[in-house]
Amino acid sequence: MTPEEFRRIGHALVDWIAEYRSGIEQLPVMSPVAPGAIRAELPARPPERGATLDSIVDDLNRIILPGITHWNHPGFFAYFPSNTSFASVLADLTAAGLGAQCMSWQTSPAATEVEEMMMEWLRQMVGLSPQFTGVIQGFASTATLCALLCARERSTNFSQDRGGLQAEEKGLIVYASEESHSSVWKAARLAGFGKENFRQIPTDENHALIAKELEIAMQTDHERGMRPCAVVATTGTTNSTALDPVADMAVLARLWGAWLHVDAAMAGDAMILPECRWMWGGVEGSDSIVLNPHKWLGTGSDLSAYFVRDTEQLIRTMSTNPAYLKTQHDARVKNYRDWGLPLGRRFRALKLWFLLREQGVEGLRARLRRDLQNAQWLKEQIDAAQDWERMAPVHLQTLCIRHLPAGWAEGAELDAHNLRIAESVNRRGRAYLTPSILKGKQIIRVSIGAETTERRHVETLWRELQEVASAVQ
Ligand code: PLP
Repeated sequence: MTPEEFRRIGHALVDWIAEYRSGIEQLPVMSPVAPGAIRAELPARPPERGATLDSIVDDLNRIILPGITHWNHPGFFAYFPSNTSFASVLADLTAAGLGAQCMSWQTSPAATEVEEMMMEWLRQMVGLSPQFTGVIQGFASTATLCALLCARERSTNFSQDRGGLQAEEKGLIVYASEESHSSVWKAARLAGFGKENFRQIPTDENHALIAKELEIAMQTDHERGMRPCAVVATTGTTNSTALDPVADMAVLARLWGAWLHVDAAMAGDAMILPECRWMWGGVEGSDSIVLNPHKWLGTGSDLSAYFVRDTEQLIRTMSTNPAYLKTQHDARVKNYRDWGLPLGRRFRALKLWFLLREQGVEGLRARLRRDLQNAQWLKEQIDAAQDWERMAPVHLQTLCIRHLPAGWAEGAELDAHNLRIAESVNRRGRAYLTPSILKGKQIIRVSIGAETTERRHVETLWRELQEVASAVQ
């Protein structure tokens, strides 16, 4: 492709994205295709000859678009948001155009230094003290794996340089609430702790970890000759945005010499609002923190910010330093290849830079406050409705609710009824929700926060929920 052809088709694709975004509200939020439908449209063998990019754009409309679930749709109330603002789209296009690698400072000094400054800006934005230094990881799952690897190495005085975990006399234990994200126990398994050494601590009526239960578990493990190694606190659990008692957990972690990691994948974004910071009170006592600007803030995947107190610990755990990667500047610069798992790294900081320059922190704060207000409005409607029930506090933008018609008892029928409501709303195409289970009960989970979602969309959702609830009864 010549630069001229690239220019022509590139402009057409930017137009295509703008058209897509401006008409997104007319599309069904959740892709309606059946499993295998998209695959069936693709030839079984790779093309021998190249085709024009115009024909590829035709296929984008015909094959790809029907198989997309629209995360930037104003009716997107599922999971947590994954906002990809226009500024971020353009930055990713630019980063791809530059094709820069930021594994080492020398392989693209701008990529490293912009990342350094973006993490410094973000640290200030969320109100963390300068004892924390940030680095971009792809996803929160990777950041939590990094945290548990560092915890393992700190507890064993770098057993990876000897016989590894297999040579350790005492079993190392990881603790997190029963409501912690699946990425936490996945990280514990992958880091070699083993399922038997992962403790799921019970939660209270607000679905937050009970500190007393953690205390008992750590004491019991110690008495059994095990070593408490890592504690993961969640600020804003996936199910219900529950808030673990970070300050109490920090005290216990310190008492047993365990690493404290705070998983604030979603709620961390809210810390750009000073009025939300009480939610992770005690965070300064942690060893590491993860938050995802790619959820609510709008950088698009993949931009997870991992903040650590002891960068030397991280680098010693992660670095390899073979001769072919050494450069003359190594003593004076950050080489991010030593701050995480992969060697190669995209220039991801560019999209945070574009986003922050375009919207300013004030712009982001205004949007998040809008979403918090919309969530409070919906909470008021639920609380006022006789046959609806709220199943968790609404700290942020997520509501856990269920329909409870008069005279219905707890049990399988009620659960099935609520699952039917969620599935039916999703099939209608105007909104997309996540059904989930909270303390054994079927809930309908409403997560507000797509960049395009205004009050009227939340009002429409509430009307639709009520209509569907009476229709499926
Ligand atoms: N932790 C929490 C609390 C989450 O809600 C999620 C995803 O929603 C994750 C971790 C995993 O995030 P990622 O997809 O960035 O790995």
